[in-house]
Amino acid sequence: MTSTAHEAAALDAADPLARFRDEFELPDGIYLVGNSLGALPRAARTNVTVEFDRWSTLGVEGHFTGDLAWESYHELLTDQLASLVGARRHEVVGMNSLTVNLHLLMVSFYRPTPTRHKMLIEGHAFPSDHFAAESQIRQRGFDPATSLVVLNPRPGEVTLNVDDIINVIAEHGDELALVLLPGVQYYTGQVLPMQRITAAGHAVGAQVGFDLAHAVGNVELDLHGWDVDFAAWCTYKYLNSGPGGVGAAYVHERHVADPALPKLHGWWGTNKSTRFEMRTEFDAIPTVESWQLSNAPILSMAALRASLDIITAAGGMRALRAKSLQQMQFFDRRLEESLGDRVVSLTPTAVEERGCQSALQITAGNGREVYEQLIAARVLCDWREPDVIRVAPVPLYNSFSDIDRFVDILDEVVT
Ligand SMILES: *Cc1c(COP(=O)(O)O)cnc(C)c1O
Repeated sequence: MTSTAHEAAALDAADPLARFRDEFELPDGIYLVGNSLGALPRAARTNVTVEFDRWSTLGVEGHFTGDLAWESYHELLTDQLASLVGARRHEVVGMNSLTVNLHLLMVSFYRPTPTRHKMLIEGHAFPSDHFAAESQIRQRGFDPATSLVVLNPRPGEVTLNVDDIINVIAEHGDELALVLLPGVQYYTGQVLPMQRITAAGHAVGAQVGFDLAHAVGNVELDLHGWDVDFAAWCTYKYLNSGPGGVGAAYVHERHVADPALPKLHGWWGTNKSTRFEMRTEFDAIPTVESWQLSNAPILSMAALRASLDIITAAGGMRALRAKSLQQMQFFDRRLEESLGDRVVSLTPTAVEERGCQSALQITAGNGREVYEQLIAARVLCDWREPDVIRVAPVPLYNSFSDIDRFVDILDEVVT
């Protein structure tokens, strides 16, 4: 064993969360791509099988029978989701998928007028977010050329300058209707100061929402405390719900029962006690649940519950983040010692500006080829155009030894 392998083994032995790795089924090799698709929790099989059994034996009566009744199944997720994002119970609901939820929330929170019609996004927004924003602007009869404000990093820089974000918000001032930014940028891994951005948006009278795809389950969040208006996220990344897993949404309590907000309605958003009377007057549930359209995807939620239970048992985000900070430190040090300037990380180094993902650029050699050699060596990571290898040691199931072995392999494949 190398000395760093010994060190990693000792860190693993001292890690109070190490045992949670056994709660997951990990592919062969080193799995460092939980930022894209989280690993399978063993208990997801059990939870999903329970629902198959209930379906088999109860049929349609499963909707109304027992503690797992499908009619209210989504409520079983709420407390844990709320705790992950720092929200109150009536502010969070699991539903739909991320892009769908962004659209539904923009219907309510992007309300352009002839004088206040602009929406701020980042230039390197995930394409789905960019498409959603543009199409919302067009849908309201405005033109992205004049209504979409796109903020880029400074020339020669890759991460967003936070002062630039605050300044661009002030600059567009009372023309700005909505700020829609990521909590954690998917490419660089940069964490944005959500509280500061929210305050800056509110100061000019704009609504402020966040896409938390890469933030939830990765960094600590306090949406209610930060006064964020709305947020949406997916659960198949750091929340391990499986491919295409159910999304979720948050709306601040001051908005949840506001009858003046425009909203797209479906039967799952109406009063639960009269829903099955099949009335056609919409009687909004006085919580974020009024944004629900359809009955819930139970199998996906059953899988998600397995993961949420593991996160809870591990002590929640505070405990996971504490381990993650230690892992990032070890990761950075190992990378620096072994590869020096053959690799550059685009991810900010300050702890409050990053989560568990690092975006690596290979300076010695061809990045795409290095990525392919990593995959051939069974290091599961991902490639993002134009030139970044993303790796994410996830504290819930990645060990310090995973990090140590990854750096050794990278050292071998980078010439
Ligand atoms: C993963 C991700 C998506 C994916 O959207 P889906 O609607 O879940 O397919 C969208 N936006 C961001 C920022 C993401 O990271």
